[in-house]
Amino acid sequence: MTNEKTPPIRRVAVVGAGITGSLLSLCLARLGFEVNLYEAYVRRAQDVGSFLNLAPNGRAVLERLGLADRILEQGVVATSIDFTNHRGRQLARNPERTTNIMRGELSGALREAATDNGVKLQTGKRLVALDDDGDGHRRIGFEDGTHAEADIVLGCDGVNSAVRRLLLPDAPRPAYTEVVGSGGRSEIGAAELPVDGRFHMVFGLRGFFGYQVVSPGVVWWFENHQETRERTFAELAEIDDARWVAGLADRHRPDPAVIRRILNASAGPVGRWPVHEVPPLDTWHRGSAAVLGDAAHAVAPHLGAGAALGMEDAYELALALHEHPRAPRAFAAFEESRRDRVAAMAKQARQTGAVMTPDRWITRVIRDLMLPMAIKQGVRKGTEAYSYRPSPWPLPVV
Ligand SMILES: Cc1cc2nc3c(=O)[nH]c(=O)nc-3n(C[C@H](O)[C@H](O)[C@H](O)COP(=O)(O)OP(=O)(O)OC[C@H]3O[C@@H](n4cnc5c(N)ncnc54)[C@H](O)[C@@H]3O)c2cc1C
Repeated sequence: MTNEKTPPIRRVAVVGAGITGSLLSLCLARLGFEVNLYEAYVRRAQDVGSFLNLAPNGRAVLERLGLADRILEQGVVATSIDFTNHRGRQLARNPERTTNIMRGELSGALREAATDNGVKLQTGKRLVALDDDGDGHRRIGFEDGTHAEADIVLGCDGVNSAVRRLLLPDAPRPAYTEVVGSGGRSEIGAAELPVDGRFHMVFGLRGFFGYQVVSPGVVWWFENHQETRERTFAELAEIDDARWVAGLADRHRPDPAVIRRILNASAGPVGRWPVHEVPPLDTWHRGSAAVLGDAAHAVAPHLGAGAALGMEDAYELALALHEHPRAPRAFAAFEESRRDRVAAMAKQARQTGAVMTPDRWITRVIRDLMLPMAIKQGVRKGTEAYSYRPSPWPLPVV
């Protein structure tokens, strides 16, 4: 076990080069740690065709590190988030500025920035084993039969985290949220839909639809709907894009025609996923390893909060390791600083989801009656959720 007699941490293994892992690696490298970042894929199938909405708290982390312009260069600013119901009536507007960005572009830019800061990235490295050598060090094994050693291992390997499974074998498994999400890009006549800078969200009768016209004639969209029986990622991927999109268009038949217009103009790959969340874990760390980001607390996607939460985690854990360079104290300090915030966001995401995709007609009727009030309250809470601002970075930012 690691204790106060063990030498301070020098070599760090970060597992998973998604948003959390790449940013964490970058932060740690800037603080002088020797960082190896291991990633299973060169490019993940799940990232194809989908964008995410980065909240102001995520942007604030990037700004603090002097990275916002570089990382969000490929993104599109949304000057507000506008909510309408299935009849097209405007319910509320969230005036916060957010950024929509393709998921693959965001993690790709973060990976590149990490390697520019001295992080050693290795792709094609799927972690399958994690051992403690009894002296506080960690040995990790990969599917390709290779091994590596480090003083600490940080699992940023997402909702189905192997690090979590190996480190905390009694931790609850990810739970299916009964929501299927999809997203893509459409090409539509430039005169048909103006570039208005707004992220439009429509509470449809049988699904939730969001879109932004990102440039003349180009629309990014996503859709979430309820499916009680879980279909695996592989099962969903087998469905032909055209058939999937036609199914969504049919689902949104009772809703504003613009949704079908966008879906029918789909161009390029359409991503789709069964959505899972990680139930609260008793702890996020043990000995010289810890989990963070989605690996520790994947929240339902209805708030659009997960990526920004992962960025907050990365920043806070890097600061904790800088301040307490021995694992147990750093991990404990990190976890204490994050637990309440994460729990509050998870609760809010679940509440929002229940409003978005009700499965029973009676819930839908109540939803439509309550929606304007619920949305206004949600917008207020959303603004609170965005309020995290990172403390100053301890070294000059170059
Ligand atoms: C449908 C949907 C919509 C969403 N929309 C939004 C949104 O609008 N805004 C928002 O902020 N968030 C959104 N999210 C959440 C957001 O995508 C996640 O919270 C965020 O990607 C978490 O980042 P992460 O780096 O922790 O995990 P991930 O992005 O999952 O990255 C994990 C990385 O680890 C790698 N990996 C996995 N296993 C291994 C292994 N064994 N060995 C090595 N590497 C491994 C993976 O390949 C991946 O690169 C959404 C999520 C879903 C499902």
